[in-house]
Amino acid sequence: MYFNKEHDLVRKAVRDFVNKEINPHVDQWEEEGIAPLHDIFKKMGELGFLGIRFDEKYGGEGLDYWYETIVLEECARIHCGGIPMAIAVQSNMATPALEQFGSEYIKETYLRPALKGDMVAAIAVTEPDAGSDVAALKSFAKKEGGHYILNGSKTYITNGLQADFLTLLARTSDDPGYHSFSLFVVPTDLKGFSVSKKLDKLGMRSSDTAELYFDNVKIPAENLIGVEGEGFIQQMQQFQHERFAVLPLSYVMIQEVIKETVEYLKGRIVFGKPLIKKQVLRHRLAHWLAQAETIQQLAYHIVRMKMAGQDVTREISMGKLLAGDLLNDVTSGCLQMYGGMGFMNEMRISRLFRDARLISIGGGASEVMSEIISKTSGF
Ligand SMILES: Cc1cc2nc3c(=O)[nH]c(=O)nc-3n(C[C@H](O)[C@H](O)[C@H](O)COP(=O)(O)OP(=O)(O)OC[C@H]3O[C@@H](n4cnc5c(N)ncnc54)[C@H](O)[C@@H]3O)c2cc1C
Repeated sequence: MYFNKEHDLVRKAVRDFVNKEINPHVDQWEEEGIAPLHDIFKKMGELGFLGIRFDEKYGGEGLDYWYETIVLEECARIHCGGIPMAIAVQSNMATPALEQFGSEYIKETYLRPALKGDMVAAIAVTEPDAGSDVAALKSFAKKEGGHYILNGSKTYITNGLQADFLTLLARTSDDPGYHSFSLFVVPTDLKGFSVSKKLDKLGMRSSDTAELYFDNVKIPAENLIGVEGEGFIQQMQQFQHERFAVLPLSYVMIQEVIKETVEYLKGRIVFGKPLIKKQVLRHRLAHWLAQAETIQQLAYHIVRMKMAGQDVTREISMGKLLAGDLLNDVTSGCLQMYGGMGFMNEMRISRLFRDARLISIGGGASEVMSEIISKTSGF
């Protein structure tokens, strides 16, 4: 109903890529706590998956948000959360602002190589004292001649160990309010930049997460994205691409987890019968499937709204809130149905249970989503 033969071809291409180039290596990357992003992104860039909805002029495929949704849905079939997250950083978190607000120079120098997979990108917003409250961030970029001098630190930065550039939000003025911030492209080979720590995490283990430090980093003025002082507003818009990605990544992961759990329950004999015969379990699974379907339909509604040029902040916030909570419920509930087996690291459910925990925290916690929903609903 939503997808035609051309969509199906792209879906198959992404699925084949995931099965051939990613899934066979996931266990190793999870073990190592990092994945070879330059290699993965180069292959994805060549196939056009990273920039599928971006302008062809800047290395994208010039397709629409339906195609982006397909790529995300298929990435959700990766056997962990860490790699889909790293990919989404490249396509939905660190690059949309470059396309929307960046100069020709920025698009040619950073956006094109990122979409082609020649550069790894990261999004650097969060700081030790500023997560949910983005406006509390302290990193400061002071204009001096043809440069901005950046001092400060960022934390929990995905792809932070491997990134060639950061899309970074910093203060450019001490004035109160939301017009004191600017977005920059910060190449990581600039003097004064350092990775201060690789962070050890509960889940998303194949995704590298870093604490970053900036000591008088001289950012060329042409690396300012858009208008000085408008970075906060630009980043709020970029967040919509990030948060939308959570929906397809979650509802497909939920559907896959349920499918695998059903197979396990069919074969697990307890009290003389397969566990799937227990109505209480079947009904829980059915309920979750129904909830996943509503999130999927909300995502498709959002795609239609985006294609019609409408503001989707409220709907995306609703979708991220529901998706994060449901993914947590389903991975935890399915793990319960596996019994002791679900607690074993060899089982994918135990990994996804750990990975899922991030979704209602990262990129705007569930409580922050609820705040946006209530504000945009007038209370
Ligand atoms: C694995 C991982 C990867 C990440 N990747 C990136 C990245 O690539 N780039 C980046 O910039 N950041 C990244 N983050 C940071 C992430 O976006 C933040 O952790 C998140 O926004 C929450 O901020 P915080 O951790 O400072 O929590 P806090 O702001 O301290 O909030 C703590 C908790 O308080 C509650 N809370 C917050 N606000 C409210 C409210 N208004 N009302 C009620 N309760 C509230 C929520 O439950 C929240 O989880 C990552 C984080 C993790 C863990």
